[in-house]
Amino acid sequence: MDDQTTGGLKPCTLAAQALGAGEPMTRSLVPPVHVSTTYIRDADNGYRSGYVYGRTDNVSTQQAEAVIAALEGAEEAILFGSGMAAATSVFLALDKPTHIIASQVMYWGFRSWLSEIARYGHTISFVETSDLDAVQRAIRLGETGLIWIETPSNPLWTITDIAAIAEIAHASDALLCVDSTVATPVFTQPLALGADIVMHSASKYLNGHSDVIAGALATAGRTKLWDRINVVRGRHGAILGPFEAWLLMRGMRTLHIRVKTQSAAASILAHRLSEHPAIERVLYPGLNSHPGHDVAMRQMKDGFGAMLSLQFKAGEAAAIAAAGNVRLWKRATSLGGVESLIEHRSSIEGAGSPCPSDLLRLSVGLEDIDDLYADLLRALSHAG
Ligand SMILES: *Cc1c(COP(=O)(O)O)cnc(C)c1O
Repeated sequence: MDDQTTGGLKPCTLAAQALGAGEPMTRSLVPPVHVSTTYIRDADNGYRSGYVYGRTDNVSTQQAEAVIAALEGAEEAILFGSGMAAATSVFLALDKPTHIIASQVMYWGFRSWLSEIARYGHTISFVETSDLDAVQRAIRLGETGLIWIETPSNPLWTITDIAAIAEIAHASDALLCVDSTVATPVFTQPLALGADIVMHSASKYLNGHSDVIAGALATAGRTKLWDRINVVRGRHGAILGPFEAWLLMRGMRTLHIRVKTQSAAASILAHRLSEHPAIERVLYPGLNSHPGHDVAMRQMKDGFGAMLSLQFKAGEAAAIAAAGNVRLWKRATSLGGVESLIEHRSSIEGAGSPCPSDLLRLSVGLEDIDDLYADLLRALSHAG
């Protein structure tokens, strides 16, 4: 930062000003996009600027990384070309065959990748990580090196107790990584709760506008694994490009106001829809009825996020019919943007998915809550 420090300033302030990233020559308020792939070497053969080649270093990418590190209270953050590239890099960086424990319920694409982790010499146990005893039982002393949890997790919004799992992990010399995509740094700070690494699909809330694919990792400290993750990113060419990083930084300037508004709307919709005769169950961590509500009350602040799921009394056909009759909500995969999305998850996850077939997943955007509710009510009248 040029002329301010992060000391004492609230995360919302740091994000709004992108840590003061401007450009010193023109004193531009908004930084340029640094597109150069290569940098000029000094006459004495050195690289005093610190920049050598775009596959390992880029100023625009580093500016966005600094914002994420500040929001997560991290020692360092690094950006990848997607959330999947970020998540897989952690595992590709493990230096010996490792037993991994991962949440049973989690983002489908990553669960599929992890289920084939034996290709890389590792073993995996998928465990219901909201059950602390089950996690404890799954630990293999001397073998378990990594616990990977997602909370709230797709698409049931299962809550895992980050602080409790961090204790279990550290008591057995394992590291804890948390996919905090849905919680965002606004509602949960996994590193402060004891996690070692936090991961985001920045394609979702961090960017917030459904126009960038990006992923982030942020670390509590510089460990051997972290250094290796940096090497993996450089060698595999997984760094985020400068245009995407610049857009992501622009998106993050409004992160706090977006997600707090979206979460408040999701909470209202969850309460209202709980009363609807066609709905069997609303899954939302902010509801008293949600099994993870008590833990969510402890580890989330200022909101429970803007994702909820509906289960239909009349089953799968009713869920699909309701999704087919929305006008304002968009039938699309993904989440975390300003436009509200609705999706029948089990159709996209396919055979073997733990997702119930009577479930629709809702990503609440920034439209007027009454417009969103009215559209759902009309669609639900087709739900049998
Ligand atoms: C979307 C998503 C991912 C994957 O991120 P991409 O940016 O699509 O690669 C991982 N975890 C969660 C929770 C997600 O929602």
